[in-house]
Amino acid sequence: MIQKVTTSLTGDGYWTVEGLPAYVRLRIAGMQQGSHNFFVNDQEANKRVASWGGGKALDDLLLPDEKAPGIRVIKKADKGMLTGVSGLITHDTGKPLIMRSGDAPLVFAYAPGLVALAHMTTQDVLSGMPRRFVEQIAKEASLADVNFIVGPGIQACHYPYKWTVMFKLPGSVQFKGGKVLLDVPGAICRQLKRAGVRDAQITYIDECMYHSGKYFSQRRRNAEGDTKIQGNGGLIELLERH
Ligand SMILES: [Zn+2]
Repeated sequence: MIQKVTTSLTGDGYWTVEGLPAYVRLRIAGMQQGSHNFFVNDQEANKRVASWGGGKALDDLLLPDEKAPGIRVIKKADKGMLTGVSGLITHDTGKPLIMRSGDAPLVFAYAPGLVALAHMTTQDVLSGMPRRFVEQIAKEASLADVNFIVGPGIQACHYPYKWTVMFKLPGSVQFKGGKVLLDVPGAICRQLKRAGVRDAQITYIDECMYHSGKYFSQRRRNAEGDTKIQGNGGLIELLERH
């Protein structure tokens, strides 16, 4: 069985998953967002993001291009906005990987000496990004040592989708009120398993972006006009080992 969890609040005001090893820092938050370039016009938000990275300047953080499905291994010296990449892997300590999200799940991974983070839209899932994420990570670490954390993301309760998806992701749809509802985080878990990841290596954050109240949801904003939270950010960092 895949372990299902909910996130808990950290002392510094973010959501995290409990029980992580000491070498991993993981943070999730609903955040303010100034433009496509994460927080570029928002000094307060910049400071908060910087504080995730131990007080580093924003320029030292990587802000991936979530609209492209590439996966790249990055080094501590890499800086700024990447293009063409929505999956990141690093072996370097003190190099927080940060990614934005709307309704799509963020997928975190960690193993001794490695952290990784990917943003997976429905299109990414349909094109096999979970499998490619596993394949790329398996080039960098022993796959049996890697743990994956899926979500939060929009769940089937709030995600009617094109009916044809029931042929493409048959195990991840529900039918209700004449609609086909898609469980994107569940579909990611299924693809991770097909790529060789065991249940025991997967943690599923069982929180729907739309209704959990913890995060931004584009669909909630469209439906209800909620503008308090304007985007989600996820961070994973490999810490120095003591
Ligand atoms: Zn929901």
